[in-house]
Amino acid sequence: MAQSYSRPPSSPARTMSPQILDNALGAVGHTPLIRLDKIAKLNDLKCNLLGKLEYTSVGGSVKDRIAKAMVEAAEAEGKLVPGKSVVIEPTSGNTGIGLAMACAIKGYSVIITMPNKMSLEKEAALRALGAEVIRTPTEAAWDSPESHIGVAQKLQREIPYGIILDQYRNANNPLAHELTTGPEIIEAVVSTPSTPAHPSSGKVDVLVAGAGTGGTITGISRAIKKTHNKDCVVVGADPRGSILALPAELNNEDEGLAYVVEGIGYDFIPDVLSREANDIDTWVKTSDEDSFRAVQMIMKNEGLLVGGSSGSSLSAALQWLKGEGKHIAETPGKNVVVVLPDGIRNYMSKSWFLKIAMEAEPTPLAKTIKDILHPV
Ligand code: PMP
Repeated sequence: MAQSYSRPPSSPARTMSPQILDNALGAVGHTPLIRLDKIAKLNDLKCNLLGKLEYTSVGGSVKDRIAKAMVEAAEAEGKLVPGKSVVIEPTSGNTGIGLAMACAIKGYSVIITMPNKMSLEKEAALRALGAEVIRTPTEAAWDSPESHIGVAQKLQREIPYGIILDQYRNANNPLAHELTTGPEIIEAVVSTPSTPAHPSSGKVDVLVAGAGTGGTITGISRAIKKTHNKDCVVVGADPRGSILALPAELNNEDEGLAYVVEGIGYDFIPDVLSREANDIDTWVKTSDEDSFRAVQMIMKNEGLLVGGSSGSSLSAALQWLKGEGKHIAETPGKNVVVVLPDGIRNYMSKSWFLKIAMEAEPTPLAKTIKDILHPV
């Protein structure tokens, strides 16, 4: 057959320069910003809806960036000894995967403490990367000895050369996003010209992200507001049942409610989450139901296999654009960036995903196939 494929002009190569990388850490980040045009149209949005697709980072999530940054900073400070150090970290899984990857490459042992609710897929990936994994009760309060944080602290006290890099307090967590995720978003928006088909303000006008430690939203916000557009509206997504949102009354109704989405929301305010009015302008509470419906919308319309918290960010963005942000939704060229933190391969065995995948409406082809294979 004749060769007819050539690189389409509308699909430039990813911006990472094509060269041999020393190891996997060179493939952390450098993720694409992708138009979610079909979702925008379905929701009558005139603005541009753009997804920052973090599952294309080498370890599969936005948290690779901070794992790399925290390990490299600790090395520069002489805190890690190859062959001796034991990196211990409480995490909802993705930071653990990033750390286990970095430590596999660099030769440090890893112990991850992780609440029971987090997926089997994350535990399997961690074990495959050589980490020890300890599960903790999901319902344990963050400051109790049984929580993932309490257990990590106990192990660190007892294990020689044990060190907690501490994503909840480590300044390199938000800094990694201020220095990489934020500038990547700004560069993609600034360097994409405005055209009649795709008008653009040339600026990041709105950023929407979920918060777990808060490092992602805080760091990206700082990059945008300090260097690019101080008037950018930063919208935080916080699951119902968590207490991170402001004003605090937003959280009252559902305090203590258990939720299924992984990686966002907490029962305490992490130090690295800056809730100052200037860094995060407004908050939206999200439900599991809306988040999973949004995941399905992204998969079916945009062909992107994102995880549960990506649905939360999109659901928060749509809620905001239909309410407070209506003037943005109605303005062609405004750029609304939604952070999509990880991919569905972290959640394949979860019942919420199996429901989406296996109980989906039959496609229009189902009848044709049945008629061919099982004629009556
Ligand atoms: N989504 C997922 C799937 C995550 O693992 C995390 C990290 N906990 C987040 C969102 C939130 O990121 P951050 O900790 O930077 O707020």
